[in-house]
Amino acid sequence: MSFVSDRVYIFDTTLRDGEQSPGCSMTVPEKLTMARKLVDLGVDILEAGFPIASEGDFEAVDAVSREFPWSQVAALARCCTLDVERAAKALKHAKRPRIHTFIATSDIHLKFKLKKTQQQALDEAVAAVELARRHVDDVEFSAEDGARTDPEFLEKVSKAVVAAGARTVNIPDTVGYSTPKEYGQLINRIARALGDCAIVSVHCHDDLGLAVANSLAAIEGGARQVECTINGIGERAGNCSLEEIVMILKTRADAYPYHTGIHTEHLYSASELLSDIITFGPQPNKSIVGRNAFAHEAGIHQDGYLKEKTTYEIIDPRSVGVPEGKLVLGKHSGRHALNQRAKDLGFELNRAELDVLYERFTHVADHRKKGLMDEEIVSLIHEVRQAPLRAVAD
Ligand code: MN
Repeated sequence: MSFVSDRVYIFDTTLRDGEQSPGCSMTVPEKLTMARKLVDLGVDILEAGFPIASEGDFEAVDAVSREFPWSQVAALARCCTLDVERAAKALKHAKRPRIHTFIATSDIHLKFKLKKTQQQALDEAVAAVELARRHVDDVEFSAEDGARTDPEFLEKVSKAVVAAGARTVNIPDTVGYSTPKEYGQLINRIARALGDCAIVSVHCHDDLGLAVANSLAAIEGGARQVECTINGIGERAGNCSLEEIVMILKTRADAYPYHTGIHTEHLYSASELLSDIITFGPQPNKSIVGRNAFAHEAGIHQDGYLKEKTTYEIIDPRSVGVPEGKLVLGKHSGRHALNQRAKDLGFELNRAELDVLYERFTHVADHRKKGLMDEEIVSLIHEVRQAPLRAVAD
C-alpha cells in the first residue's frame, strides 16, 4: 500500500452536521460570518449545507459559493435525482464545487429505515455519483452507518462508486459506535482496496467519546480526509472536534507524521465566534479551546509554571490564539503566584506585606468556588498596606 501524501485534508462540517443539531441553527448571514473564519482557519473543504433540506440551506450553500468562490464548497445530497440536482444548483457559483452524496449501507439502516436491499442501495449510489459527475468534477460518496456495514459490502460499494467517478469515499461512524482498533482496521481495508484511486475520508460521532480517537486511528489506517467541526458540535454528542484532531497532529508530530493546512492561531477565535453565534460554548474543561484549557490554579502547578511553562503546558497557548496561559488565583494557589500577580498589577511587596496579603487572600478564597478577580487582589493589597497606618491611628 502506498499513500501519496502525509497531508490530511480537513473537511469542516460545522455549517452542516453541526448546524443541524439542537441549539445550533444559524441564519444565512451567520453562516457567512462563520464561513469567513473557517476560510481564515484554512479548512480544505467547507460543507455549507444540505440544499434539499430547506430553503435556508440552499441559500447558505449559494451564498458561501458566491462569497468564497475559490474555496472548495460542499453540498450534501441523498442518492437521488432531486437531491443531487438541487445541490448542483446551489453550487452553481462555486469555482471548486463538491457534491457530497450519501446512502445508508448497514443492514440495520437498509432493513428498517430504507427498506431496500444491498443491491438497490449499490445501484442508487452508483447512479447518484454518475449524475453528480455530470454536474461537477469533485464528488464525494458517503456510506452512511459505514462502521456498522458488512465490510465485504462496504468494499464493494466503495469500489463501485469510485469506478462511477467519486474521488472521495467517506466511511462514517454515524452513530459513534466504533472503537479505534476496529475502525482503524476497517478504514485500512477500504484504503487498501481503493489504493490511489480515491481519498478515504472519515466522519466520526462522539456518542462514546471516541470521535477524535477513532479519527486518529483512521488516519493511521490510511484515511486522508477528516470530517470535523469547531467545538465538536454536531448530531447528538457531536462530531470529531476540529481543534483537537488538528492539535494532536501538530503537538505529537513525533508519533503522527501527518500534517494539515490549518492556521492554528485562528482556532480559539473560531471557537469563540461559533459560541457567540449558537446558543452554547464548549465546556470549561474542553481541550484546546475551553476556558480552563490553559488555566492553572493549584499552587504546585503555578510554582512550576512560573519557573518554566513547559512543566505544565504541552501547547503554547499563543499557537492556538489564546493570548497566554492564565494563573487563576483561588484557594489552591500559593505565594509564588500571588506575588507574581501583585507584581503584574504594579505592586512590589516586601516579605511582611506578602505574608499578610497571603493570609487574607486564602481567607477570602477559601469561601469561593471561583478564583479572585484582579480588582479584588488590588483591594486586598491596599488593605494590607493601610493596615499599619490604621493601627497607629487607633
Ligand atoms: Mn454526521
